[in-house]
Amino acid sequence: ATFASLGLAPQLCEACEKLGFKKPSDIQIKSIPYALQGRDIIGLAQTGSGKTAAFALPILQALWNAPQPLFACVMAPTRELAFQISEQFEALGVTIGVRCAVIVGGMDMMSQSIALAKKPHIIICTPGRLVDHLENTKGFNLKQLKYLVMDEADRLLDLDFGAEIEKVLKVIPRERNTFLFSATMTTKVEKLQRASLSEPVKVSV
Ligand code: AMP
Repeated sequence: ATFASLGLAPQLCEACEKLGFKKPSDIQIKSIPYALQGRDIIGLAQTGSGKTAAFALPILQALWNAPQPLFACVMAPTRELAFQISEQFEALGVTIGVRCAVIVGGMDMMSQSIALAKKPHIIICTPGRLVDHLENTKGFNLKQLKYLVMDEADRLLDLDFGAEIEKVLKVIPRERNTFLFSATMTTKVEKLQRASLSEPVKVSV
């Protein structure tokens, strides 16, 4: 398989090539065609599998097709992971001019509020800080959101982000696409899956 044969647009194939991705990884081959068709996805995959690009590429393609602010929100369990995800979005989306904001705990609320006011396309966050902004930052909401990603869902739940995730699910549109990635399928992850995904395709590598 090639990135083009998965249905990705030339600009995105070019970005993959520039990053030294010679061919798509297993998780990318199995999930990208479904994601491009608008299906929800559960991906059972470890770090190192290429899971970030597996969700970033279809989101970037959908954004290119219908650009708008606050298009996608990615929730990750740690700050470090959030920054890594943001770097990949920016590298893969450079040809389409994607703008990202990282919204994580332990950093200044005010500068994050300013970043949100600039209407980024993609928010990459830890759930606690996202909820803090949803509750306290005037003018900020996710009512137009098209894509929600929960990355490392098992760790998100182990770190007790369940309540925050529920709050986010209540304030985003029902009509959206959702991707859930997890290294393991636990009872808690299954429960979250039932609460947040609709007729998902299950992919594991
Ligand atoms: P991840 O599993 O998303 O944490 O990705 C692990 C690393 O693999 C990251 O540094 C990516 O830039 C890289 N990567 C993702 N997809 C590919 C690919 N198709 N070919 C080569 N490297 C890749």
